[in-house]
Amino acid sequence: MISRKIDLRTDCINTPTEEMREAMRNAQIGNDDLQEDPTINRLEKLAAKKIGKESALFCLNGTMANIIAVFTHCQKGAKIILEKEFHMYFAEIKGICLTSGVLPSLIKSDDGIPNLQNIEKAIKETDICYANTGLICLENPLYRAEGRIVSTKIMGEIGKLAHQNNIPVHLDGARIFNAAVALNVHPSVLTKDVDSVMFCLAKNLAAPAGAILAGSKKFIKNARKNRKILGGQMRQMGIIAAAGIVALEKMVDRLREDHENARILGEELNNIKGIKIGLDATKINKVYFDIESLGISACDFLEKLAESGVLGSLFSPTKIRFSTRYEISREDIYDTVSAIKNVIKGLRRRE
Ligand SMILES: *Cc1c(COP(=O)(O)O)cnc(C)c1O
Repeated sequence: MISRKIDLRTDCINTPTEEMREAMRNAQIGNDDLQEDPTINRLEKLAAKKIGKESALFCLNGTMANIIAVFTHCQKGAKIILEKEFHMYFAEIKGICLTSGVLPSLIKSDDGIPNLQNIEKAIKETDICYANTGLICLENPLYRAEGRIVSTKIMGEIGKLAHQNNIPVHLDGARIFNAAVALNVHPSVLTKDVDSVMFCLAKNLAAPAGAILAGSKKFIKNARKNRKILGGQMRQMGIIAAAGIVALEKMVDRLREDHENARILGEELNNIKGIKIGLDATKINKVYFDIESLGISACDFLEKLAESGVLGSLFSPTKIRFSTRYEISREDIYDTVSAIKNVIKGLRRRE
């Protein structure tokens, strides 16, 4: 029995660090609608540099940044190519279609990894009754495909295909820094083939809110106008941007620790009879595991585990997901493993 709660449901529950709170308290602020908030201006410059793009725009959240991206890239009636397990489809498509008047064109992927031939086929549907392709959307790492990372090679091939056909590419990189850290590359290596990219400052980077949309100067200038059309302009929000600066300066390199914790947790779970670990599950801060052969549903298993203070997230009827994050320590990882072993012991006793 663990006396504290170990919350591994998601990295979206991170709270701002002490350093962020201090930076927020001391932030210089101004009216962002007039582009006079010095802290937001500093964040946007820093973000553009970190992600390898000319210019960046501070947005309320990732969903809004993605919506602004589509709104800025696409004409009404165009189709956007994406995969049904992308966050931009399963969680955001309604807002995207309603605001931009675009049509989703779904492509079949290989376990989440976009398939070049299928994208090409969708682009080449040029019969008069088909819509023109306005945008190709990518996601990296893949949220639903067990946190898999799309390789720089595939990113490059898709970028090349798109640009040969004069089609822009937008990357939903909510956790792009996790992918960059896991691959040990500068984030710009993962964004050089796309025209725009979104990433979250909240979630794994622990700012209380905010996301960045980055791209060329011209694109961001238009995106800024479109942000306002969509009601996303802000006033003295430097107070939040201050936490975003700390997020980018202090919280990126340390993602390694989360990955290491996830890897250890994955390896420990993999040694337990009855537990199966997923694909590339432990390259970032996520661990996905299947408990079907334990003869209990994932939902019931999570309920039992919660009794000992460990919380996980239901991924499918037989699969559970754990997310590590900066507020989860190595000790939490080992305590989680013990708690899981105890739950399984209890199941065997019952038999
Ligand atoms: C969280 C998330 C988003 C949306 O970001 P919000 O800040 O929650 O609006 C988009 N894409 C992916 C892959 C995400 O994980």
